[in-house]
Amino acid sequence: MIKTLGYAAYKAKEALAPFTFERRDPRDHDVVIDIQYCGICHSDVHQARDEWGGSLFPMVPGHEIAGIVARVGPAVTKYKVGDRVGVGCFVDSCRECDYCKQGLEQFCTQGMTATYNAMERDGRTLSQGGYSTTIVVDENYVLRIPDTLPLDAAAPLLCAGITLYSPLAHWKAGPGKKVAIIGLGGLGHMGVKLAHAMGADVTVLSQSLRKEADGRRLGADHFYATSDEATFTKLAGTFDLIINTVSAPIDWNAYLGLLKVDGALVVVGVPEEQVPVGAFSLIMGRRSLAGSLIGGIQETQEMLNFCAEHNITSDIETIAINQVNEAYDRVVASDVRYRFVIDMASLKTADASF
Ligand code: NAP
Ligand code: ZN
Ligand code: ZN
Repeated sequence: MIKTLGYAAYKAKEALAPFTFERRDPRDHDVVIDIQYCGICHSDVHQARDEWGGSLFPMVPGHEIAGIVARVGPAVTKYKVGDRVGVGCFVDSCRECDYCKQGLEQFCTQGMTATYNAMERDGRTLSQGGYSTTIVVDENYVLRIPDTLPLDAAAPLLCAGITLYSPLAHWKAGPGKKVAIIGLGGLGHMGVKLAHAMGADVTVLSQSLRKEADGRRLGADHFYATSDEATFTKLAGTFDLIINTVSAPIDWNAYLGLLKVDGALVVVGVPEEQVPVGAFSLIMGRRSLAGSLIGGIQETQEMLNFCAEHNITSDIETIAINQVNEAYDRVVASDVRYRFVIDMASLKTADASF
């Protein structure tokens, strides 16, 4: 077994603390990865604090993993020692259902194996995520990080990047399309960069105008405050596609009113509350309310290659592991520009308190 250091939530709503555990020795098709960086997704906070229910503890969060291959199992063909690789939100799936075969592993009918807060397919090992020194993953669930992308700023692409890339690609963001992103956080800022690179006309819908200069620098053509009611009259019937990254309740009917005929409002943020929608908000304009969940392995690789081609990474604030609890509070307060990334070298220093 491989001794691994990490930070874990031992219980819901408790601060994360040092945790030592073991990873399996590599099986035939496994890749052992030395984790260099891991992004902090708002989903980490939701799960570590058990805001979605059913969290499994102790939990080492983290599914925006970037590192270097340290060892490979005897049958591995895709990666070799020294390769720059990433791991996203899942580490396995059934590999046999129609969705797995189509590269939509995130919708596996037997359920994908989440990178953490899940049982592995042996039914007894708790999966543990990227706030740790090492991870062992089957080569088919590992991504290649292109050489031109720095590992720290590329880490958030593994969740925030693909979560926005997938719906933008599926709903065909591109030249002539008007796309709005609700919420300029970790996911939202990637959405702005990606939609801009795809050639769409991009609008940010933020709570205030505080982040306007950033939004425009990231690629937004327009920026509006949703706290200003005039925004909703001014922009009525404007967008082909709106992607909502916010995890707080919003006025869904008001946002549906911003869509053109046949426009789609896509949910990626996960509020705890149900989504109340009036039928008229949908039928007046044949509008769709849809959802999207990360992306499959093939599409995630396509996204990483697209980012290399367009020189896109995340805007990050790098922290040491012992700052993770403070970082969680700042994520909840929308006080991050625009993604925290943990430098895993900090796990091996005395400050990590092992
Ligand atoms: P984040 O960095 O906290 O960004 C969320 C943004 O929402 C904030 O920056 C803020 O933007 C806005 N916001 C915050 N509180 C708000 C409020 N009370 N009312 C209106 N807007 C508010 O979070 P994230 O990491 O991007 O994740 C966002 C959500 O997506 C989370 O629920 C996460 O679990 C979910 N998620 C889903 C998927 C998926 O596959 N569907 C994948 C990853 C994450 P402004 O300051 O600009 O208003
Ligand atoms: Zn995430
Ligand atoms: Zn499957």
